[in-house]
Amino acid sequence: MLTHLLPATTRVIHCDLCGSASGELLASHDRYGFAIPFIKCTCGLYRMGERPADLFAFYNHGTYRDLVSAYHGRRIDATTIQTEQIEYAEDLEAFLCPRVFDKVMDVGGSTGVVSRYLAALWKGTVTIIDPAGDEIKHARGCERICGTAETFNPKFRRWDIALVCQTIEHLESPRTVLTNLRSCCESLFIDVVDVAQFESPRRAAKLDHTWGFDDNAVRKMLAVCGWKVISSQRRASHIGYLCSHE
Ligand SMILES: [Zn+2]
Repeated sequence: MLTHLLPATTRVIHCDLCGSASGELLASHDRYGFAIPFIKCTCGLYRMGERPADLFAFYNHGTYRDLVSAYHGRRIDATTIQTEQIEYAEDLEAFLCPRVFDKVMDVGGSTGVVSRYLAALWKGTVTIIDPAGDEIKHARGCERICGTAETFNPKFRRWDIALVCQTIEHLESPRTVLTNLRSCCESLFIDVVDVAQFESPRRAAKLDHTWGFDDNAVRKMLAVCGWKVISSQRRASHIGYLCSHE
């Protein structure tokens, strides 16, 4: 087991939808062997029962990326992921176009590969919010805001669409972010990894995914944050949702 790699300080995670600290224990370890519980809340949202107090620092330490690469049998890092993200952006193009969005916000957009690809089609502009300074500095041609989406203050600015692609699982509080986006974005596209698609709960559990969603949990979360699903698309283990204001 890899418990010795975990920082000494962890903290208990409460459900972001209903606030509960309990739920059904689905697995006592994640897919990489970390001894952290994977829980399904009575409201339907999945979560890690606890996580490193500073998950971001732990995630960027390097060891974790090595583990993930070994698990998948190929190198996965900020460089290799770029090619995969172009293919991913082409998938989103097929779903989102021919709609056109001018001002695009990309939450957790990293180097901006996906949002820049789409904004180029739409002849629009991109604002990226991401706390990873080493990644966001490579997002050229975009407005770059290095920080968390939970604390971002849009003031009086507005965007036509927010992209939240493979990001919601990592957030401190999905509910806070989706509610904040509702106040400054007309539309939302959110893409999640559907935990129900995995052959076992432990395969679905990942230390860096504080939250886990299936179709039901996403729709509940979107509804409480004021978003209405107008179209959805399943692709392999992912589900994408295009939303407008309720
Ligand atoms: Zn709950």
